[in-house]
Amino acid sequence: MDKQTDFVLRTIEDRGVRFVRLWFTDVVGSLKSVAVSPAEIEGAFEEGIGFDGSSIQGFTRVSESDMLAFPDPSTFQLLPWRGEKDPTGRMFCDLTTPDGQPAASDSRNVLRRTMAQAAERGFSFYVHPECEFYLLDRESLQEGRPQPADHAGYFDNEPGGSANDFRRRAVTMLEELGISVEFSHHEVGPGQNEIDLRYADALTMADNIQTFRTVVKEVGIEQGVHATFMPKPFPDQPGSGMHTHFSLFEGDDNAFYDPAGQYELSHTARRFMAGVLHHAAEITAVTNQFVNSYKRLWGGDEAPSSIAWGHNNRSALLRVPLYKPGKGQSTRIEYRGIDSAANPYLVFALLLAAGLKGIEEDYELPDEAEDNIWELSDQERRALGIRSLPGSLEQALELMEGSELVADTLGEQVFNYFLLNKRQEWREYRAQVTDYELRHSLNRL
Ligand code: GLU
Ligand code: MG
Ligand code: MG
Repeated sequence: MDKQTDFVLRTIEDRGVRFVRLWFTDVVGSLKSVAVSPAEIEGAFEEGIGFDGSSIQGFTRVSESDMLAFPDPSTFQLLPWRGEKDPTGRMFCDLTTPDGQPAASDSRNVLRRTMAQAAERGFSFYVHPECEFYLLDRESLQEGRPQPADHAGYFDNEPGGSANDFRRRAVTMLEELGISVEFSHHEVGPGQNEIDLRYADALTMADNIQTFRTVVKEVGIEQGVHATFMPKPFPDQPGSGMHTHFSLFEGDDNAFYDPAGQYELSHTARRFMAGVLHHAAEITAVTNQFVNSYKRLWGGDEAPSSIAWGHNNRSALLRVPLYKPGKGQSTRIEYRGIDSAANPYLVFALLLAAGLKGIEEDYELPDEAEDNIWELSDQERRALGIRSLPGSLEQALELMEGSELVADTLGEQVFNYFLLNKRQEWREYRAQVTDYELRHSLNRL
């Protein structure tokens, strides 16, 4: 038995843990959980816990429904919101088929596989997300007229404000779960907040984001507000993005850093950025997976809709943030497209794959965009060679379907299921008659 496994079993015993929740993620990014009695955990490490994969979004077909979940002992934590008495533990799981093969439908496995490909080239992948979300008044939601929980704005310090208590509680819980937080603040929209998690390798971070979302929901319940990661809940307020900062390391060295390069970016960084930009449109169905995601991307308010990079240019999809000379190890790039409702495992896998492709194929990075891209006309953008992100889920799915990079990275099963699931969403949406149409047409036509 290895040290970590031993530590988990001892902690369960010493702390009198009553249940251990085993967590994994379905293809569209929902967290799944099965509670296991502590007596079963030793067996779970050795033989896995069986479950019916055919009942989970995007998992196996009914004819091959048996799956096994193997808990990852390095992720063991006690859930702070379940209290000190008879505590509840949790671990993330890796999923396999009964014959021990990594499950093709497991998002965690998609990311692991892509990170292993990076490791073969000597790279490890680090990420740092800025997670935005809204807090809504619970009663207004029940009445079907959702309202933000407060009226504060960007960086507002609202004396006695409920958002302060919310963030304090959420950050404390995250730290109890071993997740460090760099910043937390009120965002631009009323009721909108942001919590930035300290950088970690992409697999740990994808797990952390799933934990973070659960914590935010739990604190919401505790404090009587509804927390939502919906990309664009209000048409006239900013959406909730999950801007993510990336860097590649080679051993202890940041492979994006070169003191001689423009903005101290290395050749590797430039080719990685070129890869991300080149493939941005075809990965958008995954970075922005809901009908509603496109209301954020095309709704202004600091969300990107054009494929360009810049430094200190918030209208760009890809940014070299806060550039000042001598950033050294903390040199990184920020991708602003992702929204807060994306499946983090698949998103990180695709961004890494796109960047690696840029390195492998020696893609050339286009010139940086210096203008405010939001203010350019379509013609001006075309003249500068700036392409757009897809305008709707339907367009994004079409681009994804033709993408070899996305098919290879996700693997056939996740790729096909994702397209199937999202096409269904698009068809349902297309069949709706919206408030907008009624307002604009009922009296006039
Ligand atoms: N809320 C904006 C978005 O949807 C981002 C605001 C910011 O720059 O933090 O991307
Ligand atoms: Mg923000
Ligand atoms: Mg940002």
